[in-house]
Amino acid sequence: MRGVASLAGAIPTNTAMRMVSFSIKAGSQQMKVRRQGFLPLPSMSDSQDLTPYASPPFDHEKADVILRSSDNVDFRVFKLFLSLASPFFETLFDLPQPSEEMSTDVEIKDGLPVVPVSEDSKTLDPLLRFCYPCTLADDPALEDFRGVINVLEAAKKYSLDAIERTVCKSLFNPKILETNSLRCFSIACRARLQDECILAAKYTLGEPLIPMWFEEIELITSTELLALLTYHRKCGAAVQALKSDFSWFTTEYTQSSAPWMVALRPNGYSYSGCCQRSTSGRYPMLYGSGVAQWWEAFMDATFLDLQDKPCAETILRNVEKAIQAVRQHNCVHCSASAPGGMREFGTLFIRKVEELISGVDLELRF
Ligand SMILES: [Zn+2]
Repeated sequence: MRGVASLAGAIPTNTAMRMVSFSIKAGSQQMKVRRQGFLPLPSMSDSQDLTPYASPPFDHEKADVILRSSDNVDFRVFKLFLSLASPFFETLFDLPQPSEEMSTDVEIKDGLPVVPVSEDSKTLDPLLRFCYPCTLADDPALEDFRGVINVLEAAKKYSLDAIERTVCKSLFNPKILETNSLRCFSIACRARLQDECILAAKYTLGEPLIPMWFEEIELITSTELLALLTYHRKCGAAVQALKSDFSWFTTEYTQSSAPWMVALRPNGYSYSGCCQRSTSGRYPMLYGSGVAQWWEAFMDATFLDLQDKPCAETILRNVEKAIQAVRQHNCVHCSASAPGGMREFGTLFIRKVEELISGVDLELRF
């Protein structure tokens, strides 16, 4: 049987008189691991431990070591899979055979040494699944930002280099990006994942140009932050082009397909009960008419908001506000036709905004 060390915090904090020290390189750090003696023979101190086993495949009867999570779940695992994935585990499991007289402190359960680790079972489970071959365990789906970060930190700690990259990439799913874009950007920058940086930067356009402080901002350099802010400002400016040339929708809509835009009935006639038309002159005559006041207000507000947040959400939010405004006017015709028409118009608007944004480069220097 091989020797093991407590991996709580990678370095055990409790000490014993019979201590063996050795060093393991974990990431960029040389870690000194102190061992509490060596393993006893199973018959000598096999515990009657009631700690539950993890779910399959981490309850395998032929496993050769147990990792115990900080929340007391026992994972029966194969040293070979962990050793192949991580030089840290390889070194740990390759320690010399214990001598019997030193074997007093290490727990044995069902004949296997128990190695306490500082990760909880929610973190340890996906980490081990990444280590296992796909015939035994599929890569886990990580959908929660904090969960991914915990697994990422553990992967770093145990020098699971290939897994660290895979875990990092799992951050970049829409569900996580939508709510943690800036944090994802910082992590991608730190990991030098160019494509993921660009993807995360696009999602940050839904945040204000000057964002609130977030923890991972410490991970990036001021040059990288400047690149992100510059990208954001350029995107906000690029979409303003849609305000100076309306051909992007006048070529798509006829008057009869968007009469609400100009406060007309589909037959082209105005009627007294309809919405007011703007006389500001800020928008050109469309289909021979001035635009509806509420539609002008929608366009003004949307372009202003797009400077700060040039993203689909800005358009969707303003479309819904415009629909509410039309309903408040009690115009029978527009209240009926504008909601559907505006939502469709919003889809076209979003497509055009995204086309312009895709032409803006994020200038990162790595
Ligand atoms: Zn109307």
